Order: sequence, then structure tokens, then C-alpha cells
Amino acid sequence: MQAGSVRSSEETPGWTLTERAARIAGLRSFETPTLEAIEYRRYQLWVLTIALLLTLVVALATFTFWHDVRPPAWMNPRIAQWGLIGIVLLFCAYAIEKELQLRRLTQLLIEERVLTTALTNRLREVSTLLEAAKAMNLILDLQEVLETILDCAHELLGSRDGSIMLVHGEDELRTVYASGESAARGARLRFGEGIAGRVATTREPLLISGVIDPERRAQEAGAHPPPTSSLSVPLVHRDVLLGVLNINAAAGYTYNEHQLRALSLFGEQAAAAIANARLYEEQRLLASQNVYQALHDLLTNLPNRALFLDRITHALSRRRRKDQLIALLFLDLDDFKLINDSLGHGAGDEVLMAFADRLRSSVRSGDAMARFGGDEFAVLVEDISSPTHAVAAAERILSLFAEPFTVGGRSVWLRASIGIAVESLIASSAEALLRNADTAKNVAKGQGKGRIVVFEETMHADALRRLDLEAELQHAIDERQLAVHFQPIFALMANRIVGVEALVRWHHPERGLLPAAAFLPLAEQAGLMVQIDRLVLHQACETVQELRAEVPLNAPLSLSVNISPTHLQDPGLVDEVASALKATRLEAERLVLEITESAILADTERVSAHLNALKSLGVKLALDDFGTGYSSLSHLRRFPVDVVKIDRVFIDGVTSDKGANALVQAIVRLGRGLNIEVVAEGIEQQSQADALLQLRCPFGQGWYLCEALPRDALTSFLRRFL
Ligand code: C2E
Ligand code: MG
Ligand code: MG
Repeated sequence: MQAGSVRSSEETPGWTLTERAARIAGLRSFETPTLEAIEYRRYQLWVLTIALLLTLVVALATFTFWHDVRPPAWMNPRIAQWGLIGIVLLFCAYAIEKELQLRRLTQLLIEERVLTTALTNRLREVSTLLEAAKAMNLILDLQEVLETILDCAHELLGSRDGSIMLVHGEDELRTVYASGESAARGARLRFGEGIAGRVATTREPLLISGVIDPERRAQEAGAHPPPTSSLSVPLVHRDVLLGVLNINAAAGYTYNEHQLRALSLFGEQAAAAIANARLYEEQRLLASQNVYQALHDLLTNLPNRALFLDRITHALSRRRRKDQLIALLFLDLDDFKLINDSLGHGAGDEVLMAFADRLRSSVRSGDAMARFGGDEFAVLVEDISSPTHAVAAAERILSLFAEPFTVGGRSVWLRASIGIAVESLIASSAEALLRNADTAKNVAKGQGKGRIVVFEETMHADALRRLDLEAELQHAIDERQLAVHFQPIFALMANRIVGVEALVRWHHPERGLLPAAAFLPLAEQAGLMVQIDRLVLHQACETVQELRAEVPLNAPLSLSVNISPTHLQDPGLVDEVASALKATRLEAERLVLEITESAILADTERVSAHLNALKSLGVKLALDDFGTGYSSLSHLRRFPVDVVKIDRVFIDGVTSDKGANALVQAIVRLGRGLNIEVVAEGIEQQSQADALLQLRCPFGQGWYLCEALPRDALTSFLRRFL
């Protein structure tokens, strides 16, 4: 059956109306009737009719006018005459009937053709729509989607001029893609303005035939005359207006309602494709942001450890093919914590960002950099021929600290320690290189600040030894290898012992007796400080009470116990001190807790609360190593300090360094003025003791006077001294 043919209910089964009509009309090829066949049939009919009529006319004339012609005897001439007339009339009736049938068939054929053309057009539209939807759904890039939408719309409507406007902000449409003359027309419209603006407001498709206000439009459009017919449809997806699709007809052509409906349908598909592409774009952006965040430090925008390791690995693999070295510089800002603690984390962040900028501007363009978090940075120096080049690069980095950093109008001076590891000398993997540079950096830090240290294999062994030591230290606490020694504190004028400072010692099974300075930094790193402090506090209180019973003293000794910065932050500190006092029955005013300035600086609020709570227990507070920290004097007013212990470095210089001498003198005076006891630490020589006496420093301790002694030795010393 042909496309577009129509069936009726009363027709012969299997035959279309046209086929039936063709059969009735007597067409030979009635299954595929054509206009030509109909014409031919009509021609046959009329030739036959005319021939027959002529024959009959001749016969009638013969019978009527030629009397010589005698019909056979059996034939009645009248009957013959009327018979012929009857035949002529019958044939004429037949011919007329056939003519009518042929005309009907012609009509049917023409209708069928019109219908077929219309259906073919619809089919083409539907397949264009389907193709367009398929194409648009396959594309994920927004720009490509927009191009495809306009191309497909043009194909659907046989146009070349059109635009896609997308909603921008609350009530604005902006042309994001255009073709033909539209590309040269205005690119922005408010909702309600112009045809597209109207469509955006009403969300109804709009068909325009003829030019609206031709004079004004012509002026606006300048060289580009407005179209005579156009279609505009809203692009709506899930009830959200995304934009408007405008298609303009070619000159002289006018769109109809049917085309508007087709474009509306198409617009729905187009809106879905735009929404999809946008979603995809957002996800892609999010994914790329996530990847960036996963591989970068967001404060400084430098690569993080993961990305940096990757770069090192890459550099190593490249280097293997060349005869060049690569070096890793591991850098740690010295005392950065103090900036955070004293000026706040915001200031700390500002310094880190400023330093990252300086670092960026100082390294060679190809060298990779990273921030590992906190105050740790790393730089990868590639293609050097000798380790000295790496040292030169590190020196360049150190020179970045020659100028202070400005934070909130304040100048902050910083330094850094740098560890260097050079590939091919020792390490072979990115991790190993990093670990070695880190080890070298730790050594640099240990040697003082602002140092550069190149990694050596022995450092690795040292680091391992430290690890072993950490494990050993925990074992030492459990096995009671830690002991408390006591260093007497003297009233210098009276040369009388007024107290003792408890100092922890480690009876190491192989290395012998270790002073606190030899293992406490390690304990701090291993998180064992609070445990050690507790142990010392209890043991020291106990010992001092026992001594009281054993040695008759004029006045009871005071006991100074050091509290580590970590312990000072510990919420259980105050209860612990209270329970130690209660358990040993030591009077609270006999106990002096020594804290360092750096401990006060960290988290001042919490520390302040703890110090006040300790004070309300009745214990005294001493500021240890006074003078080595930051802005020391202000602490004397802000915190409830009873004792100040002048650091050893000033006592060292009290006889030789005028500055140190003046400083000690000032602290002594200040103590007197503020009613704070002043203790000079680390008196090693008589001359120092004399100088302190001259400066009227009331109290002192040091090896010259007495070293830290174990419990029994202290008992004998006290007995002897009395
Ligand atoms: P610190 O509280 O300032 O203690 C004084 C340190 O100087 C002690 O070192 C002591 O042995 C040493 N010293 C005393 N007189 C002299 C001298 O004339 N010359 C020299 N050069 N040094 C002298 P130690 O025992 O190694 O302790 C070092 C630091 O470790 C202490 O400094 C203190 O801050 C800390 N510390 C010691 N024991 C403990 C403890 O049980 N808990 C806590 N948290 N810290 C402790
Ligand atoms: Mg101390
Ligand atoms: Mg001290």
C-alpha cells in the first residue's frame, strides 16, 4: 500500500477507496492509478463514444435518407431506427457515468497526493525532531549543544537566521548563540521587552507574521532589516525558564501555526539538552575543583604533598635518562607557632601566604614548590650538576627572610631551617628523598635556627636511634627508670637553702644517667610529657615531705616543679596538683609551679584560666627561663606570677656583658617593685654569684652553689649545710 492512502469502512477488504474507484472507472492498472492512466482511459472512452455515435449517425442517415437501401425483409425499419437511437442513448449514459467516475478518481488521486505530501512533511519533521533530540542528548558541551539546537531548528524550518537567548540574572535575556542576520542584532533584552522578552514573560510560543512597527524596527536594525515572519518559543525545563529560541523566516516566507507547534516541541527537547549540558558542566567544574583541592594547599595555592611527590617521581624518572642531579629542599619556618599564638591564626595565615609569594618569585620557573601544611614548605631543584647548587638555592631562600613580613601593620621577623637531600648521592625514590630532606631539616632545627643542612647517611641512623629512644622512654616510665633529682635554691645574701627544684633524670640502662634536657624534647614529641610531669610532681612532693621529717630545718623548704607547655593546657592539671598536695599533705604555698613564657603564649585564655585556678589552690607560680621569650615584661602584669627565674644566658654574661648585667639589674629592680621573687639560674662561678650579690639579686641556683642531687645525696647535703 502506498504511503498516505486512506481506507473507508465500506470498501472491499484489501482495496483502498482509490483502488476501488479505479476499478469502477475501468482502469487497467487500478492498483496504482495515475492521473496519466485516467487521462488515457478518458481519451479511450471519448474516442469510442465518438466512433459509436458516428457509426450510428451514419446508419440512421442511411436508413432514413437512402430509400434505395432496402433492409432485409425480417427487419422492421422503424424498429431498427428506434433500436439504434436507444443504443446511442444507452452508450451516452454509459460514457457520462464513466466520465463522472473518472473525475471522482482524479479528485481522489489529487487529494491523496496532497495528503501524502503533508504526511511526508510531518514525517520529515518528526524524524528531524528525533534526530535533533538524539544529537543534542549526545553532546555534553554547552556551546556545542547551542550550535546543534540552532542547526536542527534551521533544518526543521528551512531557515538560516535565528538566535538562542539564555536567562541571565533575574530578568535579562542574553544572546548566547546566533546565526544569519540575528548575529548582528541586539544581544540583550529585559523580560517583557521585544518579542523574545514577551515570550520569556508569558512562556508562550509566539508567531509573528509581517513586520511590527516597520519604521522603528528598521531604524533599530540599521543595515539588518527585520524579518517578515518569525517564531519564538520559550526554553523551559522542569518549570524553569532557561531562555528563548528565535527563528526568523527568509524574506517573503511566512510561518504558520503548525510550524510554531513543531518548534515548541523542539524547544522542549532543546531546553532539556541545555539543562543537561549545564549540569554536566557544573559537575565537571566541581570535579576539577575537587581534583585541584585534593592536590593543592588552598591557603597558598601551592601543590600539596601528594602532587609534589608525583612531581618528584616524575623528575626522578626523567633524571635517570640524563646526567644531572635533583635536590629537594625541605623548609620549616622557625618559631612560627609563636606568631600564631601571639598574633592569632589569621596573622599566621597572612605570613604563610606572603612567604609563599616570596618563594614563588625566588625559584627558577621550572622548579616545583609545595606546602605540606603548617609551616613546612618544599622546593624541588632540578638539573643541577653539584650539591653546592642546591645549597646556593637554599641560601637564596634564606635571603627571603632578610626583610620582615608585615602583618596587620606590624613587622614580623622570621627565619627558617632548611634540610637538603640530593638524588643519586643517596636516595632513589620520591619518599626516600623527602624523608632524607626532612631528617636534614630536623638536624638543622636542632642546630639552632636559620640553618641549612645537607643530608648525610649518618643522620638517618640518628633518626632511627631517636625512634628507638622514644620506645625506650615509654619503657623507662613503665619500668620506673625515671628519677627525680633536686637542685637547691639559695637565698644569696644569707647563703641559706630556701627551696629545691625538682628535675627529672633517666637512669638509662646503657647510657647512664641522662639529664632532662637530653630526653624531654623527645618526650614532648612522643606525647609523654604529661605522664612524666605527673610522676615528678607526686614523687617530688612526697620526697620533700619525707625530708622535712628527716632533716630539721629552720623553715620548711619550698618545692619548685616544672610544668611543660602541654601539661599547662591539660584540663586535668588543676585537679592533679590539688590531689598531689592532698595526698602528701604539702602546704600549697610551699609548691612553686615553673612555667615557661612560650607555654603562656599558647592559647592564652585557657592558660589564664588554669593559672588562676592554680593560684586559688594557694600554689605559687614561677616564670622560668625569663628573658628568652617574647614581650616578657607584659606577662608579669597579665599573669599572677610570684617568682621570676632569670635565664642562664644572662647569668653567663653578668660579669662580662654590660647588656646582660643591665638586664639582670633591671629584672631584680622590677621584681622588687612588683613584689615578685627573683631567682638567678645557672650560676656556675663565684664571680657570677658575687656580681648577683652586688646587684642585690635575692635568690640563685647553679652548679657553683649545688648541682641537682638525688634524694639521698640531697639529705646529706642538707644535713651538712645546716
Ligand atoms: P630549667 O627548669 O631551667 O632547669 C634548669 C636546668 O639547668 C636543669 O637542666 C639544670 O640541671 C640545669 N642547670 C642547673 N644549674 C646549672 C648551671 O650552673 N649551669 C648549667 N649549664 N646548667 C645548669 P635539666 O635538668 O637538664 O633540665 C632542663 C630543662 O628541662 C629544665 O630547665 C626544665 O625546663 C625542664 N625540666 C627538667 N625537669 C622537668 C620536669 O620534671 N618536668 C618538666 N616539664 N620539665 C622539666
Ligand atoms: Mg625550671
Ligand atoms: Mg630555667
